[in-house]
Amino acid sequence: LNAPRLFDLTGNVALVTGAGSGIGQRIAMGLAQCGADIALIDRRDDDGLARTAEFIASAGRRSISVAADVTEGKALDEAVARTEAELGPLTLALNAAGIANANPAEDMEEDQYQTLMDVNLKGVFLSCRAEARAMLAHGRGSIVNIASMSGVIVNRGLSQCHYNASKAGVIHMSKSLAMEWVGRGIRVNSISPGYTATPMNTRPEMVHQTKLFEEQTPMQRMASVDEMVGPAVFLLSEAASFVTGVDLLVDGGFCCW
Ligand code: NAD
Repeated sequence: LNAPRLFDLTGNVALVTGAGSGIGQRIAMGLAQCGADIALIDRRDDDGLARTAEFIASAGRRSISVAADVTEGKALDEAVARTEAELGPLTLALNAAGIANANPAEDMEEDQYQTLMDVNLKGVFLSCRAEARAMLAHGRGSIVNIASMSGVIVNRGLSQCHYNASKAGVIHMSKSLAMEWVGRGIRVNSISPGYTATPMNTRPEMVHQTKLFEEQTPMQRMASVDEMVGPAVFLLSEAASFVTGVDLLVDGGFCCW
């Protein structure tokens, strides 16, 4: 066993959704630093994706950028086809695209509920389906879905029942898919971040909320996006070859209290 090589992703092609911002962007960069070529997916091909692509090029890896909405299965199938045509066989996937908002349940309209569920839960299903269709044909692959500690606990003071339920769904969807594909070379796991400093919750109107997030976290701070890279590389790499159907909390101890 060559232990340091366990985390080496050289020779792999990875697809990352939500690669234009925050956690998905930083993980995409990290996977490239570990040697993978990357298909960058986001709903818009804008500055965010361009920055990710620029970083990956400077790390000496190849990338393609694809504008695709994770609520559209056909667009994801096409993104995977383009990935394989331009970069090679898809072996790794990291699904981070997601949205968050809040509203007391009694005031929440069906549209707000449904739109969030479509992106956060159906989007993960459609992404995994597209990725696995390719990986099953190769007989190998590793998928990591970004869930949230909100799929495990209820965030004190935040009225976001739809978000929390969507993330609990991502955790159990990941376990379910892990078992569907366990005999066919594909591992599926999830990561549940705690409060993380990304555009999702560092907006100016969130200042008060952010202070509470820090106080409530046992480590007394939010995670940086850098701190999501190690867990993602671990789960995607050979270092986790016997790990499937696991949800890895990366929450600064939040769920212990
Ligand atoms: P972010 O807003 O910085 O990034 C999310 C990205 O997903 C954006 O680039 C956005 O354009 C993309 N996206 C949104 N809807 C999409 C769609 N329909 N199709 C394609 N792309 C779409 O947010 P982030 O904080 O980096 O969040 C990434 C993931 O991490 C989300 O699933 C989020 O729920 C989860 N998460 C975040 C935190 C946190 O504190 N920031 C904590 C736990 C979990």
